Amino acid sequence: MIRLENLKKTFRSKDRTVHVINGINQEIPHESFFTLLGPSGCGKTTTLRVIAGLERHDSGSVWIDDQQISCPERGIFTPTSERDIGMVFQSYAIWPHMDVFHNVAYPLTTRRRRLDAQEIRKRVTEAVELVGLGSLMYSPSTALSGGQQQRVALARALVAHPRVLLLDEPLSNLDALLRERMRSELMELQRKVRVTSIYVTHDRAEALSMSSHVAVMNNGQIEMTGTPKEVYQSPRTVFVAQFLGHCNFIDGVVRERVSPAAGIAETPFGNIAVRMENMPAQGSKIKLLVRPEDLVAGDTRTTDSRLIIPAHVTTSMYFGEHRESDAVAGDHHFRFRTHGTDLTGSEDITLTLSQRDCWAFPAEHWDDAAADLP
Ligand code: ADP
Ligand code: MG
Repeated sequence: MIRLENLKKTFRSKDRTVHVINGINQEIPHESFFTLLGPSGCGKTTTLRVIAGLERHDSGSVWIDDQQISCPERGIFTPTSERDIGMVFQSYAIWPHMDVFHNVAYPLTTRRRRLDAQEIRKRVTEAVELVGLGSLMYSPSTALSGGQQQRVALARALVAHPRVLLLDEPLSNLDALLRERMRSELMELQRKVRVTSIYVTHDRAEALSMSSHVAVMNNGQIEMTGTPKEVYQSPRTVFVAQFLGHCNFIDGVVRERVSPAAGIAETPFGNIAVRMENMPAQGSKIKLLVRPEDLVAGDTRTTDSRLIIPAHVTTSMYFGEHRESDAVAGDHHFRFRTHGTDLTGSEDITLTLSQRDCWAFPAEHWDDAAADLP
């Protein structure tokens, strides 16, 4: 397990001070595939570099298992080479003048406790085969494709059997098709090796598809940590909701508070059950979150659904496997998905909700967040 305790880091230059890490408290469970997801500049790389010991933080502490590896207040700083960490970056950072074998063997040859040649060969072969490059063991690195180079970097990060694997946007230099294939490869590999992994990305599809846990970062803080489903379906903040995908918001008022986390809301399109983190009092204004795929077009027979939204389609885009369209209903805007239905992009339609309840926020959260929408 890795634990970050009240981590803070400020970069100072002559004319400005940037609070890059703003008090992060987070536990990263043993053997998890833990993703830091957030927009560019929110402090992901800095957080990873602090964990690696490549960057010094101002206060707070980093723990790996029950060992405090850095804490400026107590003068503790374990150097990177003694943290037992493997790292992969966006740039492959493999040495062009070495073949695959020597690139992967490198971390084993620079350690204080040297291994004998036979042990090195065994470990390197294991790591290279693990990433599927067994047949290229003695190929020069320059002869490898981008995807193969990134596999070499991965083998090199794993060869010393680290306690922790840190990955900073490792797929973002690869083309789209390869990037998608590498997602499942990487996930499979992590399951096989069972190394606690921290994965940094700004790509929500990567975060949702690969992770056991997702921490959504904004302005040097973690706004929410949860499973991919939790951050997508029950986001704690409007920022998290927006960052994970398109949101339709419906204005509502709490009509009945059924429990601390559930109630009934009144909306311009009917009444519906809502779930919230903290259900406010009756009469409070809320915003209901409806994802595009939660809306069904043209199906008014769904009697379970309490929301029936007569709308006018304004634009419609074809994406092959689905179609994405925008519609207006009074002062509400909706994006919805259809499969196999042709829309002209200018027609009247009825949208209904495909589920019985909605996730919702207090309306003031929405107003606060409107200022810094991604
Ligand atoms: P991310 O990886 O989420 O894109 P970074 O951690 O790289 O974000 O950077 C966060 C902020 O810190 C950015 O505003 C960046 O400009 C600033 N920053 C990063 N490294 C330095 C540095 N060495 N000196 C000054 N500012 C830095
Ligand atoms: Mg970065």
